[in-house]
Amino acid sequence: MAGDLPFREMLVIHDPVTPLPAAARGAAAAVKPPKVLLRFGPRVEIQLDATQPAAAGAPIQAIPQSVLATLDENERFGVEAMQLRTSQAFADAKARRPRDGEVWDMPGCAGAPARASTPTRASSPAAAAEAGAPGTSDFLMGSVALGVVIVNGPTAATQFSAAEQTKIVAEVQAGASWLAGFNSWAGVSFDFDVRPVNITTQPDAAASDNESRFRNPAVAALGFQANWNGVFDYINNLRATKHTSWAYCVFFVKGYPVDHFAYASIGGPRIVMEYANDGWGPDNIDRVFAHESGHIFNCPDEYSSSGCNCGGSWGRFGEPNANCENCAGAAGVGCLMRANEWKMCGSTKRHLGWGLTSMRTTQPSMCNVISRSADHLDVFVCDNGGNTLTAAWEPAMVSWWEGWWNLLGGRAAAGAAVTAVSRRPDFLDVFVVGTDGRAYTCAWAPGQGWRGWWRIGNAVFPQGAMINAVVRSQDHLDIFGTDTAGRVLTAAWEPAFTDGWHGWWQIGNGAAKPGAPVTAVSRGANKLDVFVTGTDGHCYTAAWEPAFADGWHGWWRIGDEIFPQGSYIGAASRSADHLDIFGTNSAGNVITAAWEPAFAGTWHGWWQIRGGRARPGAPVGAVSRSSNKLDAFVVGTDNTIYTAAWEPSFADGWHGWWSLNGGKAAHGSLVTAAVRRPDFMDVYVIGQDGRAWSAAWSPGRAWAGWWPMGK
Ligand SMILES: [Zn+2]
Repeated sequence: MAGDLPFREMLVIHDPVTPLPAAARGAAAAVKPPKVLLRFGPRVEIQLDATQPAAAGAPIQAIPQSVLATLDENERFGVEAMQLRTSQAFADAKARRPRDGEVWDMPGCAGAPARASTPTRASSPAAAAEAGAPGTSDFLMGSVALGVVIVNGPTAATQFSAAEQTKIVAEVQAGASWLAGFNSWAGVSFDFDVRPVNITTQPDAAASDNESRFRNPAVAALGFQANWNGVFDYINNLRATKHTSWAYCVFFVKGYPVDHFAYASIGGPRIVMEYANDGWGPDNIDRVFAHESGHIFNCPDEYSSSGCNCGGSWGRFGEPNANCENCAGAAGVGCLMRANEWKMCGSTKRHLGWGLTSMRTTQPSMCNVISRSADHLDVFVCDNGGNTLTAAWEPAMVSWWEGWWNLLGGRAAAGAAVTAVSRRPDFLDVFVVGTDGRAYTCAWAPGQGWRGWWRIGNAVFPQGAMINAVVRSQDHLDIFGTDTAGRVLTAAWEPAFTDGWHGWWQIGNGAAKPGAPVTAVSRGANKLDVFVTGTDGHCYTAAWEPAFADGWHGWWRIGDEIFPQGSYIGAASRSADHLDIFGTNSAGNVITAAWEPAFAGTWHGWWQIRGGRARPGAPVGAVSRSSNKLDAFVVGTDNTIYTAAWEPSFADGWHGWWSLNGGKAAHGSLVTAAVRRPDFMDVYVIGQDGRAWSAAWSPGRAWAGWWPMGK
C-alpha cells in the first residue's frame, strides 16, 4: 500500500538490456497482462498488484544505484516518488492528512480564466463525433498523457527543492493512481511527462493576468509557443508521441500570485496548482489534483460554495449535476467532487463517461443475452434506427453496465433479432439478418476484439428474422432460420472449415412461415434438436447427431396443439438428454411438452402451465439455471411479465405464475434469460418505453429489478 489508496501497487523497472521482461516477472504475468496504472518513460511502470490485499503493503525493494543511474529524469522521478509513497512517513502523513473528509471550499476551482484565443471545440460529444475531432479529454477511458510542469522562478521563494519536487510527483502519482485504479475495467492509465522548468519572470502581485506570467514562459521552456495555444501544442505533442487517447497537463507554482490555489478548465487542457495548497496543505495535493482532473474530464463541482445546482448537462452523456450539495440534500453521497475524500458518486462516474448510453428500439422486440464465462454478460439489440448494438457487464465495472456500443457498424431492420452464442469461454459469435436479407455474423475473441461482419451463404431471409444459433461442442456452431421461401434452413461452422461457413441446407422438407424462428438446443455433446411451428400450425422437431449417416432425422409432429403461424417455441435442456419446450397456442394457453429417452420416442404433453394465459403465439422464454431446474417467462394478457418454475421436488408440478416485480412489455415481447453462474439468473426485456430492462434472481433472494439499461 502506498499512502492511503485502497489497493496495492507494484513498481516495475524494465531491464534496459532485455526490454520485454516477461520471464523476470514470473509465470502469472504471462497468463494475464498486468494492469498498468502509471507510466514514466519506456521503462518505469506502476502496476495494480491484484495479488495482494491493500493492507499487506511493504516498502518497495531497494533499487540499485547502477539501475537508477540508467534512468532518465522522468523515469527517476517516477521511481523516487514511488519510493516516497511507500515510506512510513508518507503513510503517517496520509493518516493525519489535514481536514480529511471536509467539504471543499475552493470556489473558482472550475472557473478557468476565459481566453479569447482558446481554440473552439464542439460543444457536445455528438457534435464532436460528427466533426471527427475529439477533444483532448472527452471521457476517462484508456490512456492519458499527463504533463507535470514544475515551474521554478528566479527567486528562492519561487523555487522548489529537490524534496518538494519529488513530493509533488508523489502526490500527483497518488491522485492519478486512484483515478486509474478506481474502475479497472475502463483501462485508464496515465503516461507521465515530469518537466521541471526554469523561468526568469518575477512574481508581480499587481499583474493584470496572474497565470500567463508563469505559464507562457513555462511552455516556452518546453519548446512551444509562449502563449495559451502553446499549452495545446504541448499536450497534443504528448498525446502524439506517447500514443495516448487523451492528454492534459498541470502547472505547479510556488510564490507566484494565482487566481485560485488550484483550478482547472472543464474539458481541459490544464490544471494550475499552488504548492502550499491553501489551507489544505501539500499532503492533500493528491486529492486536489484528482478533483481538478475530474474537471479536466468534464465533471462539475458538487460542493456548496461552488454555487453548483442540480441541473446542467455535463460530460459525455450530458447529464445533470444530481449530487450537488446545494440541492441533493440528504440524498447526496460522498464524492471527490464534493469533499476531501477518496469516494466517487454515481453522477461523477457518469460525467467521467462510464456506463450505458441511451438506447431505444421498437416493440415488440428482444434484447438477447449470453454469458460467455462466469459472471460475464453481453446483450445485443438492434435499435429503432437499425443499428446493431451491444453492452456488457462484469463485476469490475463500477458503473454497473457499459455500452451501448455500435457493433462494427452493423445495420438491420429496426428491432431485428441479434442473437449470440459462446462457442468457448469468453468467445462470442453474433448473428443478424442484414438490410439485404442475408445472414451476417461477427465475432469477439479475447485479445482480438470484435471482427466481422461476414456474410453467411446466399440464403435470403425476411427483414428482422431471427437466426438462432447453438453450440453442440466446443468451437462447433450451427445456425437456423426460415428463409423468404419458407424453407427451414441450417448452416454450420467449425475451425476445420477453412473456407468459412458451410450451408445453407434445408432440413428435410421443413417448411414454415417465412422468417419463422427455429429454436435449437444441444441436449448432449454433438446432439442437435430443433423446433419450429409448421405451416399447419403444429409444432415440429428434427434431430441430428454425427451417427446419422443420412443427415437430419425428422420432422416429427409434437402433439396436436395448434399455434399461430411463425410462433416462437422456447426450448431448454435441463440435463443431459432432457428436452422441455414452451409456447402459447392459438387459444392463448401457455403450454409445455417434454421428452427424454425413457419416453420411448414420444413426446409427453402438451400441458398448460398453471392456467397460464397470453396472447396467442406469445413467445415463452425458458432457461435451466442449474441441473433439472426450469424457469419460464411470458408477457401475459395484461402486458405483465410473469414467471413460473419447475424442479423435480415440486410434487404438484409447476409453481407460479408470479408477476416478475410488476414489469410490463408489449405483446409479443420475448423475455430472454442468461445464467451467469449456476442458479444466478439475469433476464432482459424491451419495455414499453423502448428501453432494455433487466431483472435478476439468485438463491435466497427475491427477484430484484427492473433496472433500465441506460437513460
Ligand atoms: Zn472543483
